[in-house]
Amino acid sequence: MLERGASVCLVDPAEERGRGVAYRTDDPRHLLNVPAGKMSALQDDPGDFARWAGVAVTEFVPRRVFGAYLAAHLDGASARNPGRLRVVRDRATRLERSRDGVRISLAAGDFVTADAAVLAIGAVGDRDDWVPTDTPDSAAFVPDPWAPGALTGVRDDRDVVLVGTGLTAVDLAMTLNRPGRVVHAVSRTGLLPRRHRPAEPMRPPELTGCTGLDDVRRLVSAHVRESVRRHGDWRPAVDSLRPVTARLWDLLPLRDRSRFLAEDLRSWEVHRHRMPSTTARTLIRLRRNGTLRTHRTGVTAVRMLPDGVVLHLGNGTELTAGTVINCTGLRHDVRRCPDPLVAGLLADGIAAPGPLGLGFDTLPDGRVRGDAPLWTLGALRRGNLWETTAYPEIRAQAADVARSVTTTAWSSEVPSC
Ligand SMILES: Cc1cc2nc3c(=O)[nH]c(=O)nc-3n(C[C@H](O)[C@H](O)[C@H](O)COP(=O)(O)OP(=O)(O)OC[C@H]3O[C@@H](n4cnc5c(N)ncnc54)[C@H](O)[C@@H]3O)c2cc1C
Repeated sequence: MLERGASVCLVDPAEERGRGVAYRTDDPRHLLNVPAGKMSALQDDPGDFARWAGVAVTEFVPRRVFGAYLAAHLDGASARNPGRLRVVRDRATRLERSRDGVRISLAAGDFVTADAAVLAIGAVGDRDDWVPTDTPDSAAFVPDPWAPGALTGVRDDRDVVLVGTGLTAVDLAMTLNRPGRVVHAVSRTGLLPRRHRPAEPMRPPELTGCTGLDDVRRLVSAHVRESVRRHGDWRPAVDSLRPVTARLWDLLPLRDRSRFLAEDLRSWEVHRHRMPSTTARTLIRLRRNGTLRTHRTGVTAVRMLPDGVVLHLGNGTELTAGTVINCTGLRHDVRRCPDPLVAGLLADGIAAPGPLGLGFDTLPDGRVRGDAPLWTLGALRRGNLWETTAYPEIRAQAADVARSVTTTAWSSEVPSC
């Protein structure tokens, strides 16, 4: 937006800009799950990030390097457009319509006014059902492992339980590995993300005749069989779905989208959001030497102890550990989101929930449906687009949003903060 002539006020309580939740980790073992060649900030120059980082386009780079790259791009845009970027380190708590734009209240008591606002707040929602409600302050329970300093209270001499077996659990299993410690990872499916392998490009399947989930399942199965026949691997088929995923999602009736979430989500995630091979090799080693144990069952109860926690699992096992860490992520239903900014937008009728409550209802250019000058991108568009949480999709959305905002409403003045 800076490059398109707008003045921008960036509101975020985070210490460093450009990092967000994913790219602020300091652990060099936390790698991007997308190769460098697909993480360029510039749509028309796919090699930009790999050149900046000095790596091959096929390499999986530590996420913190990517955070530094994004920050460098922001600094560059700011330097080329002096005086037009203002950064406010605070949390937005409320957004209201004003006579000629929006007024955003901040946690510290100040406010920002602007012609338009873009909500780029990442994933929002509430915690999974297993999360105990009576232990928010216990040092033995970590509700969000990506919150700054979240792992500082984890005792080195105690075992740890991770609830969830997705990419977050994989990262934590590596970070928390210590001699003599067992890291338990528990989930209903017990499925870990699959590993990346170099995949041949494949054309997406023809969607003609697809009108429901059963059609989509048949189509995807046939496409995967074709991929295995031609390339000896299912990955080309899964990757080829990426450009048509939003169309597939769009053609599903609501009840089929619900069924997909209940019946296919985990399988989709482990095949679609894969881990780099180096990470997979580390996990194999940890599982072989017994320091990482996966449990395919649910959590039925959590009992906090004065110096730890006991988890009761659906298969009758009891796990005693120093800390339990929530790695199930958020449920993306905005209707159950406790965040005051999101709840206020719904209560004031400025935004409406998207399909199934997954984010806000948005127009194709990212504008939040309604009459406020408000746009969004990323996870908050999940109900409309589904495939909207990884950087390559967010980059394309950011370009659309910048175009739409700057042609609809913009000011050459720095927004007043
Ligand atoms: C652990 C992890 C690893 C990932 N790895 C990859 C990967 O390798 N490749 C990939 O493509 N994608 C990855 N992703 C997806 C990743 O989230 C996206 O790529 C992208 O970073 C999302 O950007 P975002 O700006 O929408 O949200 P975020 O990066 O989550 O940023 C949201 C920002 O909004 C701020 N914020 C939130 N609420 C408020 C408020 N009320 N007021 C002010 N500020 C607020 C937060 O402080 C934060 O800085 C990963 C995600 C996670 C969680």
